[in-house]
Amino acid sequence: MKIVVLKFGGTSVGSINRIKKVADIISRNTKNKKKVIVVSSAMSGVTNELIRKTRQISNNFEPSEYDVLVSSGEQMSCALISGRLNHIGIKSRSWLGWQVPIFTEGDYKKSRIVNIFKKKILKYLNSGGVPIITGFQGINHQNRLTTLERGGSDASAIMIAKFFKAEKCIIYTDVEGVYTTDPNYTKKAKKIKKISYEEMLEMSSLGAKVMQPASIQDARLNRVNVHVQSSFVNKPGTLITKRKNISKEKIITGISFTKNDSKITLIGVVDKPGVAASIFEPLSKNFINVDMVVQNISSNGKETDLTFTVKNEDVTKTERLLKNNKKIKFKSMLIKKNVSKLSIIGVGMITTPGVTYRMFKALAENKINIQVISTSEIKISVLIDKKLINKAVHALHREFNLEK
Ligand code: ADP
Ligand code: ASP
Ligand code: MG
Repeated sequence: MKIVVLKFGGTSVGSINRIKKVADIISRNTKNKKKVIVVSSAMSGVTNELIRKTRQISNNFEPSEYDVLVSSGEQMSCALISGRLNHIGIKSRSWLGWQVPIFTEGDYKKSRIVNIFKKKILKYLNSGGVPIITGFQGINHQNRLTTLERGGSDASAIMIAKFFKAEKCIIYTDVEGVYTTDPNYTKKAKKIKKISYEEMLEMSSLGAKVMQPASIQDARLNRVNVHVQSSFVNKPGTLITKRKNISKEKIITGISFTKNDSKITLIGVVDKPGVAASIFEPLSKNFINVDMVVQNISSNGKETDLTFTVKNEDVTKTERLLKNNKKIKFKSMLIKKNVSKLSIIGVGMITTPGVTYRMFKALAENKINIQVISTSEIKISVLIDKKLINKAVHALHREFNLEK
C-alpha cells in the first residue's frame, strides 16, 4: 500500500475557509491512487488560549491535566476537516491519539512517540477512508493523555510516516518551505531546496520555528524524508534529508535568531571547584534551561564573574533561586532582558576556515557588539542586543551570499 502523510499546521487550518481549502488539498492527493493519512494541528491561537486558561487557574497547573486540556484543540480541527471531507463526498473520520493508539513515553508536556498501533488505521485505509489524526498528542502506559511539546504535530506526522512506511511526508505550513532565515522577518530570505537533518535541527533549535526540533531528531533517527511546503500556494518547497542526498552545499545554509532571551551575570563569585555546579543544580532541578555560559578568568585568583542566558519567562524564578541559594556567594547580580541569540548554521563551516572571523568582522563593521559566543561543529552563535537583530541578520545574509 502506498501511503502519503499530509500534516497541516495551525495557520493552514486557522479558519473555516482555510479548512475548506485543506479539504481540497486532501481531495487532490486522494486522486493519485495513494492512501492518504492526515495529521492536523489545532487552529492557530487555540493552543495558546488553552495554555492561558491553565495559568489563570494556577501557576502550578498539574501537568497531566495540562495535557488533557491543551491537546483538545486538535480534536476540534480534525473533526472539522473530516466533516468537510464528508461534505464533499470523501469518506473520512477523525482519530484521537488514544483511539489509534499512539503511545508515548517521557514527562507530560514533552512526551515522545515510541509506538503507533497500525491495525485500525490500515483497516480504515483499506475500506477507502481518509483518517484525520490529531497531531501533538498520544497516551502513555498509564493510559493518560500526553502532549509532545509545542509544535509537536510535526513529530506526530513524522512518526506516523515512519510507522506506516509512508512514501512521502509533507508538512504543509504558511510559508513556502525552509528559508535561509525567517521569511516573515526579511524579504531577502531565500527558499532552500534541500537541507540536511543536522542543519535543520540546529536551525530550529536556534529559533527557526518552521519545524519542531524534536521532530527533526525523529526524522533523522528514522531516515524519514520531510517535505515542507505551503498550504496557500502550490509551489515546490524544501526537502529535509540526509547529507548524502545533497550535492552542493554553501558554507552557511541559514541564520536563526531568538527573541526572548535574558542574560544574567553574577559578579564576584568565589572561584573554587564546584561553584558552577552549585549555581546550576537548583536551576536544573527547577527545569530552567540554561543556555550560553561564560566564565571570566579570575583577575585576582579568588573571584570571577559568571554569565549565562535563560528564557525571559524563567528570569524571575532564576533570580529567586540564585538569591536563596545558600551554597553560593556573589557580590551582585546583573540582569539584561533584551538580548537575542543570533546563529549562523552550515555544514560547510567544518571544512572552511575563517568563518568565525567573517562573522565577527561583518558584525563589527555594523557596530554590533558581541556579548557572549558559543560554537559547535556546524554553528556559531553570538549574543547581541535584541534591537540590533535586524541589522545583524541582514549583514550576515550579505556576508555569506545567502541572497543568491
Ligand atoms: P505551523 O502552524 O504550520 O506549524 P509554524 O508557525 O510553527 O507553522 O512555523 C511556520 C513559521 O516559521 C513561519 O510563519 C515563519 O515565520 C517561521 N520561520 C522561522 N524561521 C524560518 C525559516 N528559516 N524558514 C521558514 N520559516 C521560518
Ligand atoms: N497545537 C500545538 C501547538 O500549538 C501543536 C502544533 O502546532 O504542532 O504547539
Ligand atoms: Mg509548527
